[in-house]
Amino acid sequence: MNLHQFAETHEVTNQPPSLDGINLYRIDLPLQEWSHRYGAGWAQSRIDTYGALAGGPLMAAGFLANQNKPVFVSHDRYGNRIDLVEFHPAYHELMRTAVEHGLPSLPWTDPQPGAHVARAAMSYLHSQAEAGSGCPLTMTFASVPALKIQPDLAEIWLPKILATEYDPRNVGISHKAGVTIGMAMTEKQGGTDVRANTTRAYPVGATGPGQAYELVGHKWFCSAPMCDAFLTLAQTDKGLTCFLLPRHRPDDSRNQFYVQRLKNKLGNWSNASSEVEFRGALVWMVGEEGRGVPTIIEMVAMTRFDCMVGSSALMRQALTQAAHHCAHRSVGGRVLSEQPLMQNVLADLALESEAALALTMRMGRALDHLQDSQEGRFARLVTAVGKYWICKRAPAMINEAAECMGGAGYVEETILPRLYREAPVNSTWEGSGNVQCLDVLRALSKEPGVLDALFDELGDGHGDKRLAAHIVHLKAAFKDTTDIQYRARQLTEDIAIGLQAKLLLEAGNASVSDGFIASRLAASGRVYGTLPRGVDVEALVARSSPQVG
Ligand SMILES: Cc1cc2nc3c(=O)[nH]c(=O)nc-3n(C[C@H](O)[C@H](O)[C@H](O)COP(=O)(O)OP(=O)(O)OC[C@H]3O[C@@H](n4cnc5c(N)ncnc54)[C@H](O)[C@@H]3O)c2cc1C
Repeated sequence: MNLHQFAETHEVTNQPPSLDGINLYRIDLPLQEWSHRYGAGWAQSRIDTYGALAGGPLMAAGFLANQNKPVFVSHDRYGNRIDLVEFHPAYHELMRTAVEHGLPSLPWTDPQPGAHVARAAMSYLHSQAEAGSGCPLTMTFASVPALKIQPDLAEIWLPKILATEYDPRNVGISHKAGVTIGMAMTEKQGGTDVRANTTRAYPVGATGPGQAYELVGHKWFCSAPMCDAFLTLAQTDKGLTCFLLPRHRPDDSRNQFYVQRLKNKLGNWSNASSEVEFRGALVWMVGEEGRGVPTIIEMVAMTRFDCMVGSSALMRQALTQAAHHCAHRSVGGRVLSEQPLMQNVLADLALESEAALALTMRMGRALDHLQDSQEGRFARLVTAVGKYWICKRAPAMINEAAECMGGAGYVEETILPRLYREAPVNSTWEGSGNVQCLDVLRALSKEPGVLDALFDELGDGHGDKRLAAHIVHLKAAFKDTTDIQYRARQLTEDIAIGLQAKLLLEAGNASVSDGFIASRLAASGRVYGTLPRGVDVEALVARSSPQVG
């Protein structure tokens, strides 16, 4: 008898083929269509290149960078304070690849129509492979409009921010060709309420924009503390003011910027988030004294847009994995993606994913055309609407996608647990859900033309009676201002769904727009997989399934 035959306990069957090394752009029909629609056709080969990287080496690096969390090293072996955060090499690979491909810089260095859409598409691919590194990448990208307010500082910093070189060394910027930028606003007593900041700025000599000050105080959250500089807020005699705080002083000595500890976070593990103290840190004033919030909001508006990109990306990656699994997994002798109830779930997830992408890309288009005042108003409103809605939808959607994969979706060898852990942060940071909804009310009531811009965009329903009725309902909801704060989430949700329905109708794929409108406007199931009868689920599932294996 051959004993080896007993060592072979079983043959592995009924498991999907690997998705390793897949080009995430080529399998993503909606991304191809939406990026073309909004003017990024010229960047297709760049996006395609990034799709191959994201599905290949960056995906692998993403696992390593999250298995090996950053470590805070306060002192060197001789007892000198160094305030270093050490990252796994995979994190640096993620950062380097993104910076070299222009993720933090493209729309600023090549500001042609479609540049914001193209960058959003690449960022969408990057975040599918690894989202934590997206934090310093987006802050670096977003710092540009705020820094431009202070031309003397911009002249020094922008060439290095926009250089496609990544240099993670803990040295002054005179030694670096490329730098990254962070943002530190939140203090212990108030994150939303930044006006309660107690950090104080003291002038070194002359006062006013561009002048040097010293900061004394703290920040309760400061992500990516190895960035080369941070935009931060501190009080002066004239109120809350924005400052640029470099890690090193111009003479290359360390600035008085002390990391206290790293946060032990639910997710977002590859990215370090810290608590910091400033004990006389040398800073330069950015923008007008006392106008810190309007100055830093130039940065925050962009990071909020990137929360839309990031949450859309997490949902897309979850959908890709779930659709792929179900296309190859049989239960009861039948492939899951052909079983009616699973088709209902997968198609519903596909609708959520595509609607999120549509709104995100439409927002990218608005950023590409800000010189058009209508687009400016649209961007002002939809930054808050989209940040709220898309980020809120992501955790439940990803949970459902993981469940489509059964037990495998709960196991760290798949990316699903990481996507799920990552999802909630986008709705919390950069202004939490309620804050976005209150900002929607502020934009609509205080900024001239925003309400008209919304209803111009929505039009008359684009030939769809259900959307037309939704718009009528929305107009009535805005006319009645009683209890409007109490109703702000419902109003924001209704705006988001109306806009998504309109964009999907405009795109002309009837299975997608009909499915979305039938389930989000006409009927309302409370969990995914409750699409009403008549939705073309087969077409939706096929559209979202990677064609491999
Ligand atoms: C992982 C991580 C990294 C972060 N990194 C940074 C960083 O790099 N830099 C930085 O500055 N900050 C950072 N933050 C902080 C983040 O931006 C804040 O936590 C966030 O803005 C909320 O502020 P808070 O924690 O003080 O909550 P609070 O302001 O106390 O808010 C608590 C809740 O109240 C709600 N709320 C507030 N006002 C109202 C109102 N008027 N009506 C109804 N509800 C209201 C909010 O929506 C929220 O849900 C980070 C946070 C996390 C989780």
